[in-house]
Amino acid sequence: MSSGLPAGVSLRAEAAWLDAADQLAGVRDRFVLDETTVYLDGNSLGALPATVPDRVADVIAREWGELRIRSWTESGWWEAPERIGDRIAPLIGAAPGQVVVGDSTSVNVFKAVVAAVRLAAADSRSRSRSRSRDEILVDATTFPTDGYIAESAARMTGRTVRPVAPAEMPGAVGPRTAAVLVNHVDYRSGELYDLPAITAATHAAGAYLVADLCHSAGALPVGLDEHGIDFAIGCTYKYLNGGPGSPAYLYVRREHQPRFDSPLPGWNSHRDPFAMTPDYAPAEGPARGRVGTPDILSMLALEAALEVWQDVDIAAVRTKSLAVTDFFLRCVEASAPAARVAPLTPADHTRRGSQISLRCADAKRVMGELIARRVVGDFREPDVLRFGFTPLYTSFTDAERAARVLGEVVS
Ligand SMILES: *Cc1c(COP(=O)(O)O)cnc(C)c1O
Repeated sequence: MSSGLPAGVSLRAEAAWLDAADQLAGVRDRFVLDETTVYLDGNSLGALPATVPDRVADVIAREWGELRIRSWTESGWWEAPERIGDRIAPLIGAAPGQVVVGDSTSVNVFKAVVAAVRLAAADSRSRSRSRSRDEILVDATTFPTDGYIAESAARMTGRTVRPVAPAEMPGAVGPRTAAVLVNHVDYRSGELYDLPAITAATHAAGAYLVADLCHSAGALPVGLDEHGIDFAIGCTYKYLNGGPGSPAYLYVRREHQPRFDSPLPGWNSHRDPFAMTPDYAPAEGPARGRVGTPDILSMLALEAALEVWQDVDIAAVRTKSLAVTDFFLRCVEASAPAARVAPLTPADHTRRGSQISLRCADAKRVMGELIARRVVGDFREPDVLRFGFTPLYTSFTDAERAARVLGEVVS
């Protein structure tokens, strides 16, 4: 995407030129944004899609206020977890009927890891001489909640957690491994891991893979079905713009659904929930991943938020993400001394998510200054400046301004 612009043109002019050529530029109007702020924290809380306020007002006033209990059937509340799961599915490369929405990412990590260990244990029992699989490999640099939950899941299932750097997972997985829990993109560094290679190695060892898509879904193609991933989870309030605390999702590969043994078999996952029987019989399909009554207000806000994706191709999103992060890196190089900020995110496109992290000795103070100047990214301990690029609404002009203001602050 290197320009046909005359040599020597300013980065600001180049940004305007790139925005004019950007096929996704018009999608920005589907969000509530103000032109005085450069918002580069969509990897933490996505911006508000313009369709959401009216929809939520209608859910409250009419569906809840007027129809009340009737809305469970007449407004489609009961089926919302599977219906919205099917709207997320194409964004993560899943055919319909494999994704259910509900609960937090943390809770879904628990369901998926325990279910993966239970599948591995069932396999061992059916092959009488195979050794017991007593370890769970966990991404050593993971967002903390995944590690905490995996540790508890391990204690409950009589396994131990072994932390392994994602790049080393293909060599580390072996006959003792029951399950592997790995992030697709590292939340701190923005590094993209080779999920197909990790999955292939996991399967070759006879284990099951759980992928955390929090920092990839909505920013780049995932290909869950194509790559044979067993289980996946992710949040919806980052690149999927579902709103603060919007419910997460759980993907259970179709071939595993009949054997998916949830550690949280609530009444919502029962085959016949309204039979109210004392015996549990699991539902078929993705509903087996449900637990209790879904949080309808957040869930329907998410459904409205997903309308922004209607005609958006995820491959185009990836192309824009790489172009705008490349451009940001060039602008940072031009405006900020290399001794002050150093990229932590790999330059290699095959290893980059949709954020740029920069190491900076006084990162906490610098981010405070940036936010005061209306360039909003965030800070992660101990010295990381994070800038998230949401291809649906981040412009090249945003990238240029953010880098220029960063240069002013650190110089
Ligand atoms: C954002 C994020 C979470 C968030 O978990 P919640 O239960 O939604 O708070 C979990 N894991 C990863 C990798 C994340 O990036």
